[in-house]
Amino acid sequence: MSSDRYIDFANSDIGRRLVGAVGLPAPARLERWQAGRLRPVEGTMLVSAGPLADHVRLFAQRLTDSLYSFGSDQPGATAWVAAQGPKLKAVVFDASTLLHSDQLNHLREFFQPLLKSLDHSAHVVILGRAPATLSDPLAASTQQAVEGFSRSLAKEMRDGGTVQLLHVDEGAEDQLEGALRFFLSPKSAYISGQVIRLSHCPTQVQDWSRPLSGRRALITGAARGIGAAIAETLARDGAEVVLLDVPQVSADLDALAARLGGQSLAIDICAESAALELIEGLPEGVDIVVHNAGITRDKTLVNMSAEFWDSVLAVNLNAPQVLTNSLLESGTLRDNGRVILLASISGIAGNRGQTNYAASKAGLIGLAQAWAPLLQERGISINAVAPGFIETKMTADMPFAYREAGRRMSSLGQGGLPQDVAEAVAWLSQPGTGAVTGQVLRVCGQSVIGA
Ligand code: NAD
Repeated sequence: MSSDRYIDFANSDIGRRLVGAVGLPAPARLERWQAGRLRPVEGTMLVSAGPLADHVRLFAQRLTDSLYSFGSDQPGATAWVAAQGPKLKAVVFDASTLLHSDQLNHLREFFQPLLKSLDHSAHVVILGRAPATLSDPLAASTQQAVEGFSRSLAKEMRDGGTVQLLHVDEGAEDQLEGALRFFLSPKSAYISGQVIRLSHCPTQVQDWSRPLSGRRALITGAARGIGAAIAETLARDGAEVVLLDVPQVSADLDALAARLGGQSLAIDICAESAALELIEGLPEGVDIVVHNAGITRDKTLVNMSAEFWDSVLAVNLNAPQVLTNSLLESGTLRDNGRVILLASISGIAGNRGQTNYAASKAGLIGLAQAWAPLLQERGISINAVAPGFIETKMTADMPFAYREAGRRMSSLGQGGLPQDVAEAVAWLSQPGTGAVTGQVLRVCGQSVIGA
């Protein structure tokens, strides 16, 4: 799967010794979700005390068959004792009660003893409150402090471990299960150091083994790379998939659509007739729209031709704007729909040689943020997913030094796989994930770029 041979070397017997001796980066082989797996956590899960943790305990036994509590016995859980307890695969810490700076020491007291007991590819989730929702400035400041802590802890994790902070609004507690099924499992293998807010959402997943059952999804640019992985993953999760790509790659597109039992649409998203063809191609409507088609035409601005500039803005930004608008106005995108825009960390940090591409991807982030409140009434969410360095044909073609820098300059010390992006899209597509809207989810291994 991965073309990163350094990971294989660093995890071999000789490589491990050599890498340790000369202080080279030692990226772990990340654990990923395998088809057919049922439990999000295969190993021990530790849950702290606290009001949000109490909600987690209501469903924790559906996530793992080895549940432990911190400090005291809780119903259905055994007390975990540092140095004696089993290694931890998943950890949930409720930081929502930290409202004064004196209480921040609970973070050190909780995490320090368990850091040496983390299993391979362990996932940590800290639960808190969005500072903007707290009226007391000192409480808001304390919750902001938790963010700095979680992002730093993410950088100190070893052996493929990740850390996220979830801000849980009052009334959003029932959406914790979907979020933890994602962030505590290998589905989020390449995501770390993220802060995501959960708000109230009236819909919920009915069957966790097929969370997208009964939903129809459109994926643009689905013939290969990340788009093909998204189509496979949404189909795995029960969605009926409609794959779109340019007519030139119809053979690949048709073959994949046939394998996934879906439909294919040969449309150039920049064509004048694209919106009409799309609406006609989706007579029964659509619940999930993934704007994945994207191109790069890199040049420094001084050498950038009008053709390079225009084509990138047309495919990456203008087409998603026009098509989403048409799908909304025609009623093709149904209520409680999910729109996911494939942005990039270049759109957050900027990138030399990519003024056109970064502008287009930043524009998509702006689109998600601005449109989200307007679509809330219909229960439609719109979010951006910002991949970092993903092992695809696009990154395989990069010059060696850039490719190596892209891979190693992240907390996980490696590139991600198309599946990592696809899993994030699949989570944001779920009925319950309307709890997340107008946000950017980075899938970048906590890349230092734009962090
Ligand atoms: P890719 O080039 O492998 O695939 C893109 C697909 O989009 C192709 O099948 C192509 O035919 C299709 N497409 C291009 N123009 C189109 C048009 N006008 N109409 C319809 N389809 C069109 O790219 P990828 O690496 O899989 O990237 C997918 C998305 O993820 C892109 O939006 C890209 O910008 C973004 N992304 C990728 C990376 C990475 O590391 N690969 C990083 C950040 C963001």
